[in-house]
Amino acid sequence: MAGCGWNLADPVSICASACQTPGGKAGMDHEDLRHWSKRAADWAADYHAGLRDRPVRAPLVPGAIGRHLPAAPPDLAEPIETIWADFERIVPDGMTHWQHPRFFAYFPANAAPASMLAEQLVNAMACNALIWQTSPAATEIEQVMVDWLRQALGLPQGFVGTIHDSATNATLSAVLTMRERALAYRGLDDGLSGGPTLRFYASAETHSSVDKAIRVAGIGQRNLVKVATDRDRAMTGDGLRAAIRADRAAGLFPAGVILCAGGTSIGAFDRIADCLAVCLAEGVPSHVDAAWAGSAMICPEFRELWAGVEAADSIVFNPHKWLGAQFDCSVQLLRDPGAQVRTLGLRPTYLETAGREEIVNFNEWTVPLGRRFRALKLWFVLRAYGLEGLRTRIRNHVRWAVAVRDRLAALPGVEIVTEPRLSLFTFALANDAATEALVSRINDDGRIYLTQTRVDGRFAIRVQVGSFDCRAEDVMLIAKTVEEMLA
Ligand code: PLP
Repeated sequence: MAGCGWNLADPVSICASACQTPGGKAGMDHEDLRHWSKRAADWAADYHAGLRDRPVRAPLVPGAIGRHLPAAPPDLAEPIETIWADFERIVPDGMTHWQHPRFFAYFPANAAPASMLAEQLVNAMACNALIWQTSPAATEIEQVMVDWLRQALGLPQGFVGTIHDSATNATLSAVLTMRERALAYRGLDDGLSGGPTLRFYASAETHSSVDKAIRVAGIGQRNLVKVATDRDRAMTGDGLRAAIRADRAAGLFPAGVILCAGGTSIGAFDRIADCLAVCLAEGVPSHVDAAWAGSAMICPEFRELWAGVEAADSIVFNPHKWLGAQFDCSVQLLRDPGAQVRTLGLRPTYLETAGREEIVNFNEWTVPLGRRFRALKLWFVLRAYGLEGLRTRIRNHVRWAVAVRDRLAALPGVEIVTEPRLSLFTFALANDAATEALVSRINDDGRIYLTQTRVDGRFAIRVQVGSFDCRAEDVMLIAKTVEEMLA
């Protein structure tokens, strides 16, 4: 290809200038990016405007997309026009559309437009906020945003925190910290062998990220005690106390409790106040997983569900689920960060900031060193919609979930298996086979997307309402679709 070889007379020029290909200019510089970013913004607006016309879930079989791509990477630069055309041809139809207003599966991963705008700016600066000095604004806006969210959730002064990529990493950080508190921080130097058998406690309703944290932290799955729940699938203070005391009597070391505030399957809440009272009385630290439901706590009327939470040592919630700050954005609030920083913090010479001992280096609060500037999207979202705007959305979602639950309950053959917790409930038909067939038909149809769970062994269909742009009629389409399929 002309112009793409080594220029021995001027080696600096190699690939510094774009090459011409038969299809147009290859490579991309910042002036090209100016043009293509505008195209991308137009594309994004059209994509969002057209979402209701797309099936929510990608109607594909595995391998359908991969086979469109060459097996080997290109040796020569290609024009961006070609790459763009391939993107339009292959990718959008190969996606499950998480921003679709009729996405009722899993939990949402909302991206409010203001959040997307902030991410574009972060994208342009492409910083690594690993220490204060490498991105002072990222660190300081993160501190303020965590405090804004603390206030928004109604938590007392004194809680501080940080932003992780995921609740999984926040919970891992909390488990590592509880482990080290139990070991008087000896595990950091000596490792775990020869130490006491550490025990952790959670209900079976907690997310699998808790199991993963326990495994990764070297605790061992069998030392995660799944405490029995009551008929609301809540861990109780009595159950927790009995489990802790039985372990102590057996010579084991209770090291930490993970409480469930809005479980993934059916939205279960442990008896938070009672369990945390037991934690305090027994001297066992605690972490609350409110990854989904935490966002709803900006509405004072829902706070009863996690009453007493201010006694927790650590709380995680994901603004990337229900608050509109797009993936990834998981906030961990800590009553005292000292133990976590002692557990996770390392400050080799190359990460020091000379003469600045007072600064916060957030990598010392988290597992990864490198960090994205996640606070900017919170700043944009909280200001662009205001807490009242965000509350209105969440309140609507909860109201519409209750309304569609009533519509479904009125259909012959449909049984509500679990009642709405916030905006999540489950329903089923007379037997598992019929319910499984129904959810498959619904998702193949594509107008709505629902997922499934098991409740006491029974296969049930989950409905969660939380899409940022959904309307009442989108939610009511759930009942209409089910009605049509049962007719
Ligand atoms: N906790 C709960 C209750 C969840 O529902 C989820 C994911 O949906 C997680 C934790 C894990 O979240 P992440 O994907 O941020 O790791």
